[in-house]
This record gives sequence, C-alpha cells and structure tokens, in this order.
Amino acid sequence: MGDRWYSEAVVYCLDIDTFADSDGDGVGDIRGLIGRLDYLARLGVTCLWLHPIHPSPNKDDGYDVTDFYNVDPRFGTLGDFAELLHQAQNRGIRVIIDLVVNHTSDEHPWFVSARSSPDSPYRDWYVWSEHEPADRHQGMVFPGEQHETWTYDRSAKAWYYHRFYKYQPDLNMTNPQVRAEVKKIMSFWLQLGVAGFRMDAVPFIIERTEPGNANSPKDFEFLTELRQHVQWRRGDAVLLAEANVEPDELPQFFGDAGGSANRVHMLFDFMLNGRLMLALARQDPEPVVEALRDTPALPEGGQWATFLRNHDEIDLSRLTAEQRNQVYEQFGPDEDMRIYDRGIRRRFAPMLGNDRRRIELAYALQFSLRGTPVLRYGEEIGMGEDLSLPGREAIRTPMQWSYQPNAGFSDADPEKLVRPVIDKGEFSYEKVNVTAQRSDRQSLLAWFERMIGTLREAPEIGSGSTTHIDVPMPPGVLAHRADGPTGTMVFLHNLGTEDTMVDLSLLQPEADLPIDTLADRDYGGVGKLDALKLSGYGYRWIRLCRNRTR
Ligand code: BGC
Repeated sequence: MGDRWYSEAVVYCLDIDTFADSDGDGVGDIRGLIGRLDYLARLGVTCLWLHPIHPSPNKDDGYDVTDFYNVDPRFGTLGDFAELLHQAQNRGIRVIIDLVVNHTSDEHPWFVSARSSPDSPYRDWYVWSEHEPADRHQGMVFPGEQHETWTYDRSAKAWYYHRFYKYQPDLNMTNPQVRAEVKKIMSFWLQLGVAGFRMDAVPFIIERTEPGNANSPKDFEFLTELRQHVQWRRGDAVLLAEANVEPDELPQFFGDAGGSANRVHMLFDFMLNGRLMLALARQDPEPVVEALRDTPALPEGGQWATFLRNHDEIDLSRLTAEQRNQVYEQFGPDEDMRIYDRGIRRRFAPMLGNDRRRIELAYALQFSLRGTPVLRYGEEIGMGEDLSLPGREAIRTPMQWSYQPNAGFSDADPEKLVRPVIDKGEFSYEKVNVTAQRSDRQSLLAWFERMIGTLREAPEIGSGSTTHIDVPMPPGVLAHRADGPTGTMVFLHNLGTEDTMVDLSLLQPEADLPIDTLADRDYGGVGKLDALKLSGYGYRWIRLCRNRTR
C-alpha cells in the first residue's frame, strides 16, 4: 500500500457501545471490539472509524464530551484502547477516532467553570453574548428537536452559543488557548497511535461566530494550522472531515498549496450521497452522472469518502423539494421514517425492500465510484432499523452476531442492554446474523467479502481517475471507468428492472483479455465488448487491461 494509504482504504464505522460486549454489562466495550477484529480483517476492512470514545453523559451518543483525554469508562481504559490499536495494527487495520471539538458537553469542567463566573479562566473558551442575539432562532442543525442556537444561562447571566443541542456549548475557536488545546488533544491521540481523525462539524469549528450574524465568516486557516500540526506529529495521519456544504465551498476545505491539498485529506461526499439516493429511487443513473460531473476537481492528495449510510440520518437537504419527495416516496414513505425535515432514519436493506439484488447493486455502485468507501457496521449482513426508538437511535441497535439471546452481542439481561436488539420481523437477529451468514457461501456477508476483496485487487478505483463513459446506454444503466497506473476497470450498473444489452465496442482497442471480476451472476465470460448482457438490477465490474507490474 502506498503512502496515501487512505486512497485505497476500506473504512468501517461503528459505535463501541453497540458492537460487542465482553463483560456482560449490556454495553459494548473495547475488549469486545478486540475480539471481533478478525471478523473485520476477514471482511477486508483496513481502517476503523470509531464514533466518540470519550467520557460523556451520552445525551448525543457521545458527541457531547466531558474529557477529551480519556475513554468512556463504560468502554474500558486507556490501556484497553492502546491494546486495541496494537491488535488492529497486527491485522493491518488502522484506527481513526471522532474528533468532536466544535463543542463540549455542558457538563465538561471547562464549561462548568466558564458559566460560574466572568473571571473564570475558561470563560472565554466559549462563545457568549451579553444581549439576546437577533439570530437566536436561526441555524439549528436539528429542527424539531432544537429550537435555538443561543441559550440564556442564569448562572453566567449571559447567552451562550450552541450550533447543536443546548447541552453542547460551542468552543470559542478564536481563542488561541482553545486552538492550542485542540492541537494538544490531537497530539495525545496520535501519540497513542491513532491514524487520524474523523473531524466532526468542521464548517462550525472554523466559524468565527458573531452574535446576531447567522452567516459568520469562516477561518479556513485554522484547518491549515491543524494539518501542519498533525503532519509534524505523524506524517501519515489523515483528517477526514464532515462538511456538508455547497459544492463551491468544498475546495476551500481541502486547501491548495501549489496544487496539493494542505488542509483536510478527505471529505465525506454528501453531494454524491444525495444523488445516489435519488438515482436509486428513480432507477435512473443521471443524478450520479451529474454528481460526478459537478463535483469540484481535487487537489493532489485530496480524496472523497463515499457512503450510503452513516450513523446519522440520510441527509437529503442538498436535493430540491421535489427530488427529496421522490426519495421519500420510495425509501421513507411513512412520516415516522423521516427526520429533521430533510432525512431518513432507516438502514439500507429495509429501504430497498430487502431485495438482495438491489442491495448488491447499491453497494457495488458505491464501492466502484471514486473515493474511499465507508461502510457502517451491520450493513454487511443487511441489518434493519427499529423505528420505535427515538430519532437517529433507530439505526444504532446492537450488532447481530448470532442466534443466541441478545443476538450474541451481550450476556446481560435484555433490559440492561444499551439499546434493544432487533428481535421481531424480517430483520430480527434470528433471521439476520453473522453466524448464519458465515456458514452460507451465498450470503450477503460472503458477497461483501468477495466484493471488497475484488476492490482491493483494483487499486485504480481508489487512486485512479473515475469517469463516466459518455456513450448511449439503455435506460437505467450507468457505465463508468477507473484508470490508474495499475490498469483500467470498467463498471456497468443497471439501476432499472429490465434485462438489457450494453455496447462498449468503443473500448475494444483498449481491451486486453477483458474479464468479469465481479458480477451479479455468471455471464459466461466477457468476449467482445459490443454486446454485454446485463440483468435488471445487475452489475459487472470488468477488468479491461492490467499493468502487470502490480
Ligand atoms: C455528528 C452527529 C452529532 C453532531 C453533534 C454531527 O455532525 O455526525 O452525530 O449529533 O455532529 O456533534
């Protein structure tokens, strides 16, 4: 693997508390995760992204931190965490952690001190206003659950700013002490051996909040500073940022120093995510073609992170109201499946009617597009959601390992579980679990292992250039190619239901014994490229030519 390991990585995200419980207290823990590393290695995962691991009152699933220099005692100790890093490294797996420094919990000692007195050394670590800010009811991230972004604090006798819930006061990033502290936090975890950070809420971290101004200016230079700092501490560490912003703003997050990215290395591709959802809903690849065409070119070293599902809602806010409604009709028909007036709180398998062909198609498409694929735990076995749980918790249920009670996640009494396991219906752990799928070569899990194995033998997907093959195609079919120093791959994905035939004869001169490396069925070989069969919801990953030095 090259220096830019993140370009060829397969990232898997999980919450420690719902993955595997080793001590029977009902909460997943680090030792439980260590026990499952072989499973992840076999799946082909090369990088784990752990959701917040720090002590927290857990009002926002750990995104409300009370101590940045420790792990939540429910998960284990720092010693356990160091052991996790060691064991993961032994299996070729890097670990990145969520860095949640836009805000702290209101129970963090810094905020407790800051609110207690204007003379507190931490007062200026947060963002205050003496008067009620005019934009108090603007800029909420969680409409319906959050009603303001400024809250009056009686003990402080002032208003404090919180981009998210009111128990998450924003840190004041214009304060040099806070900036230094953020660097110290990063250094601490890098020193322990993490391979980088998933940076939470980056557009808000760099916001220079001005009370009354709902569009406060952004300080991109802070990202340059952080990148430099991280690079000095660990040269191959990666910054993967969450920045769900308009496309024309994205390049500034990567930065550009003489053509090379000098801020974050990777950005989640929210634009592509919304377009993928629309394309799947319409059974028409056009939105994906548009996304590939419209996403800004990346500076050297910059990379997209693609995803179908992460730990939050599927965010459709970058689609028009009409497009959003088309996605809702297909994938979130009931009001209860939707959230924040912009998204869907469901997992992928149920959204696609548990249709195996469509699930494979969707993931084959995601993993073959440019960028580093990110996979959410449980998607590889087709887990479902529990809509009786509040908000985003619907898709945060325990991993379904086996037929055993509590899905093999924990030995605790069921009422002690951090969240209930899914034990009813089509997606109950008795029907969907790792043990069952492990012994079935035709299972979704076995397919994911094959698909990821194929991907890792095709480095041009991650590191090469991906382009739409712009020739007439039957309805529903997307053709794209990835070219890299290692060779060329061509991909066909049929989002429609009809069996069809694709003509790629224009690529014949480039072909050097084309072969199917992954397909929804046995197409009996590739042969000539002028009449390629493709089933409804089918896909074919065809290796066109290979540079044999690799
Ligand atoms: C995370 C959410 C979290 C929020 C507040 C987001 O961007 O992805 O899960 O609730 O930040 O920290």
